[in-house]
Amino acid sequence: MIIIGIGNYTDAIRTTFTIEKHVHSFGDWEQTVTPTCIQKGSESRKCTVCGEIETREIIKRGHKFSAWKTTSFNLKNKTSTQTRKCSVCGKTETQTNKNAIERLAGANRFGTAAEIAKASI
Ligand SMILES: [Zn+2]
Ligand SMILES: [Zn+2]
Repeated sequence: MIIIGIGNYTDAIRTTFTIEKHVHSFGDWEQTVTPTCIQKGSESRKCTVCGEIETREIIKRGHKFSAWKTTSFNLKNKTSTQTRKCSVCGKTETQTNKNAIERLAGANRFGTAAEIAKASI
């Protein structure tokens, strides 16, 4: 604006300003869904300035299995059954070992296959 001469003039004053991007100020993460052995959970936190909520997943924990334990022998099929258990949720898993009796006998830990058969009857 160019002002020439004496007198009163009225005009708007222009100001230039920039709105800076809001930087969230988040509080602590709070667990909203507790993860389990088989299911993921989630947690969220809230911006203390604008209230925006951020959410993220928590990976599932996975079973914590004990070591395999031999629970029975099947003499007819020459197999053994082993189980293991999750210390968190109690889930058990079972597997069958083929030729288990021969292998045990071969390792000489439980005597011969015949002795195991006798002891197991
Ligand atoms: Zn914010
Ligand atoms: Zn489990």
